[in-house]
Amino acid sequence: SGQPRGCGTWLLLMVGLFVANYLIVSLFFPAGRGPVEVPYNLFREQVEAGNVVSVATRADVMQGVFDDPVPVVVPGSGRLFSGAEREQVDVTAFSTTLPSFLSPGLDDLLLANGVVINAETLEAPRSPLLTLLFSFGPALLMIGLFVWFTRRMARGAGGAGGGIGNMFGMGQSRAKRYDKQDDKVTFEDVAGIDEAEHELAEIVDFLKNPGKYTRLGGSAPKGVLLVGQPGTGKTLLAKAVAGEAGVPFFSMNASEFVEMIVGVGASRVRDLFKDAREAAPSIIFIDELDAIGRKRGQNIYGGGSSEQEQTLNQILTEMDGFSTEEGVIVLAATNMPEVLDPALLRAGRFDRRVTVQPPDKVGRKAILEVHTRKVPLGPDVDLTAVAAMTPGLVGADLRNLVNEAAILAARNGQDTITQANFADSLEKIILGPERKLLLKREDRERVAFHEAGHAILGLVVPGADPVSRVTITPRGQSLGVTYQRPEDDRYNYSESYLRGRIVGALGGRAAEEVVYGDRTTGAENDLQQVTRMAQGMVTRWGMSEAIGPVALAHEGGQYLGEAQPGVSSGFSQATHERVDLATREIIEECYEEALRLLKKHRTELDKLAAALMEHESLDEREVLDATGIPSQVAHRNLPEVPPEGA
Ligand code: ADP
Ligand code: ZN
Repeated sequence: SGQPRGCGTWLLLMVGLFVANYLIVSLFFPAGRGPVEVPYNLFREQVEAGNVVSVATRADVMQGVFDDPVPVVVPGSGRLFSGAEREQVDVTAFSTTLPSFLSPGLDDLLLANGVVINAETLEAPRSPLLTLLFSFGPALLMIGLFVWFTRRMARGAGGAGGGIGNMFGMGQSRAKRYDKQDDKVTFEDVAGIDEAEHELAEIVDFLKNPGKYTRLGGSAPKGVLLVGQPGTGKTLLAKAVAGEAGVPFFSMNASEFVEMIVGVGASRVRDLFKDAREAAPSIIFIDELDAIGRKRGQNIYGGGSSEQEQTLNQILTEMDGFSTEEGVIVLAATNMPEVLDPALLRAGRFDRRVTVQPPDKVGRKAILEVHTRKVPLGPDVDLTAVAAMTPGLVGADLRNLVNEAAILAARNGQDTITQANFADSLEKIILGPERKLLLKREDRERVAFHEAGHAILGLVVPGADPVSRVTITPRGQSLGVTYQRPEDDRYNYSESYLRGRIVGALGGRAAEEVVYGDRTTGAENDLQQVTRMAQGMVTRWGMSEAIGPVALAHEGGQYLGEAQPGVSSGFSQATHERVDLATREIIEECYEEALRLLKKHRTELDKLAAALMEHESLDEREVLDATGIPSQVAHRNLPEVPPEGA
């Protein structure tokens, strides 16, 4: 299946087009609407009978109008299904060809019979362009429609036979090939994912001297699965392996196959492997393998299922079909290794797995260094600080951050990128672009106090993450933000730290209450966060005396931010109530603490709010200056609780 059908199909297509063209022309533009050609003697008879009203002439053709319609027998009108070969029509508008030997004397005759002789010329014949359009237009239209339709089919769920797709070259490998010359990527360009990089160094070594591995009968790797969330640099790593080894790189995105006409995916895979084997030693990279590599029979992509399976089967066949000595190595990337069909992971296929973790702080700094190599950084830029501000961001995000900062600097007419550019870009990436929102002064002031509340608590609560930036510039959904950055990436949290986080998160609401004595809706987000954290403390981390060290929560997210709210349904109503109470208790205690601290630091709160009203955004230094809180107090961190064997 899937073989191109060649000439036969084309011939059929052309014949079909001509038939369609004829149909369209004869149905929509029937012949016989113009003047009917009549014999010269009939014309002459009519002139003599006084039935010709007017004539006009050009060269030897004369057109005119009869007074009374004249029945004339003409060849079939050309109208489809008219049946008769000849038919009789009543002619009013006529044309006739003048025989040159009879023409002399005609004008006398016309004049004698009162025919109006028009000086104007005949109805102009159709312009050649129009004629061309009439004869080819419908056909072109058909071809256009046909192409459009096949494209649509190729994009939509498959269903038609494979032949159509192949005619338009859709079966050919669309793999992108990168060679040594054009923008070579090496391990120099990859940072912050050292473990994965080290594991792949072996593959480079193998590609460079395959003999070393096979000499003692060992078998070289064939397929390597790169596992990691999007943007961590899996594609980049694969390219770097090819770049380091100096071999061609063939890449393909598996998700493209899902929507294809049946048979196209498989034929592409075949071509991809063929090209790679011809160019061996080489690298094949299949991105988003899970799009086709899902366990067969249970894929989520409805209509494309059989296509998905065919493509998957073809990959399995191809991987079994070459030996490691050929020097082709297949790298594949996925974020969801658990959904892959076990057949893919068997020995001789993707039997090696390399996990690509999101970078830690040191890694993020290294990645930032890679991407700022070619951009002019100002003297105040501290990439360590930028790395500290960006927990959770992966390589692709960091590249984007540098890019945004450079754009911002260029737009401001700066020669270099400043630290503030990074902070602004980060905000834009996280919260969305600035919103031009005209807030009344009172409203802005409220936002300023709210954010100042968060920030002051960030400064004075022992063990809280340092406040790196406060802003009341509206962006996306938010009216203001306070950033606190952990000194290091944290993998384990102490109870006092969590309580401190809750206190800080309630700081906005508490400040509003301290200053205005009432509440606004502005704390919605804060309250959600607070509730999630307190619930986690009670149901997941055994931090409530009333409940004890019992895990009650749903199984689910493993990280602090992703704690799923709620208690697993296996527990009694009474337990639910106790959990609710314990959660409330934590939050209320923390709120009291927030109120107490803000009342105590009311002067600093007012100063910070005023500074925000004036400057909108303050960085770490400016926050400390505005409040007068010395930085050693701000950083008076409690000793970190040692990890309890996480
Ligand atoms: P993935 O394939 O894991 O989704 P990519 O390799 O496509 O991620 O990453 C996109 C871009 O982000 C890369 O081209 C590179 O510019 C940048 N990037 C991602 N990870 C890293 C990294 N570890 N080091 C340097 N740049 C990175
Ligand atoms: Zn808030």
